[in-house]
Amino acid sequence: MSKKIVLLPGDGIGVEVVREAEKIISFISEQYGVEITTETHLVGGASLDAHDIPVKDEVIEACKKADAVLLGAVGGPKWDDYPPEKRPEKALLRLRKELGLYNNLRPVMVFSSLKDASPLRPEVVDGVDLLVVRELTGGLYFGQPKGISEENGEEVGVDTMRYTVSEIERITIAAFEAAQKRRKKVTSVDKANILASSQLWRKTVNRIAKEYPDVELEHMLVDNCAMQLLRNPGQFDVILTENMFGDILSDEAAMLTGSIGMLPSASLGDGTGMYEPVHGSAPDIAGKDIANPLATLASVALMFRYSLNHEKAATAIESAISKVLNAGFNCKDMSRHARQVLSTSEMGDKILATMKASS
Ligand code: NAD
Repeated sequence: MSKKIVLLPGDGIGVEVVREAEKIISFISEQYGVEITTETHLVGGASLDAHDIPVKDEVIEACKKADAVLLGAVGGPKWDDYPPEKRPEKALLRLRKELGLYNNLRPVMVFSSLKDASPLRPEVVDGVDLLVVRELTGGLYFGQPKGISEENGEEVGVDTMRYTVSEIERITIAAFEAAQKRRKKVTSVDKANILASSQLWRKTVNRIAKEYPDVELEHMLVDNCAMQLLRNPGQFDVILTENMFGDILSDEAAMLTGSIGMLPSASLGDGTGMYEPVHGSAPDIAGKDIANPLATLASVALMFRYSLNHEKAATAIESAISKVLNAGFNCKDMSRHARQVLSTSEMGDKILATMKASS
């Protein structure tokens, strides 16, 4: 069956890391007999330079028609002073909105060979393998009323944390389905001792959980979860949480690995899914062939797992990454923890060679 992937390299190192992803995608296409077509478009600063707009309507339409989207990164100093509607990151917000991406998945895995890279003690992070499932389109960031107004002669800022049952249901189902493919445990994180939206969250999660008797459910207050992530991160399998709690906890969890160049993410909705490394366009190292492409390659693995339904390809990429790291190779950002430092393109070639050798 033919699959279409839209590639949006974007700006800075986005271009370099997506180039490495293309090598892996084309190998998988040949090796597993999946007919894959790719189509590349401009977003962010690159689109502003060419078309004076962060993302063109026809690019959004191409993404909607595709099976998956792989994004590099957008932004850079060149566009920092542009007006708000012409900021490179507008492209991301519009893509998330138009594709209805309500489910953000951020896996965090500490490889044995890199446990010394964590700011926590190696014995605390060794073996950590967790997935943050963050609701992406509701909660405090979007609830109305919202804004700054004047009351009794002084300014007042208001945000509203609001969730409907259907919004909670669909992200809960996503978390339980993800847990079924993992170690079958969901930790639902809320602030149900104080917030009404969290009480509805907990009640809804409890109801949905009955449909997944094979998955263990526990509830945890968000302040306790922030603490437990540092005390004993190995206890977590899937962390399910609302938008703002997920924003904060996923960054905290990411730091367990001590590396931003290696963290992938997936954003899913009812249509096309979008995959991107967690890092930005890294203007300080762009064009030097030293960016770590592993976050993007791990994002490609997620793309095969969640949008292209090809678990074998996903596992093959993840296992190659693991083998290459355990053999002591890494990029410049992780040079203190590598026996041999590779350039961006050498790392892409190394992963490809390892996949070829195992196939
Ligand atoms: P950044 O993630 O681009 O860089 C932070 C630091 O990490 C830099 O020192 C950089 O060199 C390093 N780094 C990041 N990715 C790396 C990789 N793959 N390999 C090696 N080192 C890596 O964050 P920033 O500096 O805050 O932002 C730079 C630009 O990226 C800004 O314009 C920002 O708006 C944009 N940004 C975009 C996204 C996105 O597209 N999703 C996300 C975050 C930031």
